[in-house]
Amino acid sequence: VEIANQCAKREGRRIGLYREGMDERHLRQLAIVGELRNAIEGDQFSLHYQPKVDLRTRRVRHVEALLRWTHPQLGRIGPDEFIPLAERAGLIGALTHWVIDHAFAELAAWRTAGFDHGVAINLSAIDLADPNLASTVLDRLQHHRVTAGDIILEVTESAVLADMERAVQTLKRLRSEGFRVSVDDFGTGQSSLAQLKRLPADELKIDKSFVLQLAPGTDDERIVQSIVQLGHALGIKVVAEGLENEIGLEVLLRLGCDVAQGYHFSRPLPCEALLDWLRRRQEQMEDHAA
Ligand code: C2E
Ligand code: MG
Ligand code: MG
Ligand code: MG
Repeated sequence: VEIANQCAKREGRRIGLYREGMDERHLRQLAIVGELRNAIEGDQFSLHYQPKVDLRTRRVRHVEALLRWTHPQLGRIGPDEFIPLAERAGLIGALTHWVIDHAFAELAAWRTAGFDHGVAINLSAIDLADPNLASTVLDRLQHHRVTAGDIILEVTESAVLADMERAVQTLKRLRSEGFRVSVDDFGTGQSSLAQLKRLPADELKIDKSFVLQLAPGTDDERIVQSIVQLGHALGIKVVAEGLENEIGLEVLLRLGCDVAQGYHFSRPLPCEALLDWLRRRQEQMEDHAA
């Protein structure tokens, strides 16, 4: 905490935001913003990957890239904490660039190693409002010689809200190049349905708050059922995130949900651990088939 406070005061003074007597939370936020800049240049970020499992075939079609930050003094800082701060500090563009570059590079390496899964990347509100996003993504695609059809772009509803016109334009452009678009955290935004009407979407991801404790006879079950029906009526694939147990899985199978992701299958894993997990799973599936 002492180190954090020192970082915060230094950064706060530099950008003229520090005031004597600021509370712990604000000091920590200042520290994080200050450290984010160095972290992008330094070697403090990594990507973990979480499998998205096709419930019909049980195959892993994609893995979601989730950003991890370990600061030398502050320790691990979660994306739920630093992503909103990076957005406010104007640093999200640099972070997104880092994520795209690393995820595409790893996708290329998976192909070389004989794996066939694709990757899902999270985009922020600010990214979608950036007129250069599409060309940056296409540039990195060519650079790493990966295929747009193997990549899903996950956008949150609030993200799209920021500048709807620009966001729709960007997503249409990328979609015409073969990328797929996923509406993340569905059911938590302010106007889910209005946005679904305007957004070019291929996938709808049910927010984990409806899935974590999914069980027969609950309101969660009725909500998930309605979202699955809605998605399918629109010709969109439905994904459940935050699947933690077998009971929830049985409900999802019965309701016809297409894909699931969650601790029940695997936590987000560092790249090497993910590949081990996939190899073990492949062996198990072959044993079952035999
Ligand atoms: P998200 O995109 O909705 O990602 C799903 C979150 O749910 C991840 O949290 C994941 O670890 C967590 N999760 C998955 N399965 C389970 C489960 O069974 N139980 C529970 N309790 N949690 C589960 P994480 O990694 O902390 O990321 C949080 C959010 O931060 C993400 O939510 C996304 O909005 C944002 N984020 C993460 N990486 C990036 C990134 O590279 N760029 C941007 N713009 N945002 C990111
Ligand atoms: Mg996501
Ligand atoms: Mg989500
Ligand atoms: Mg989320």
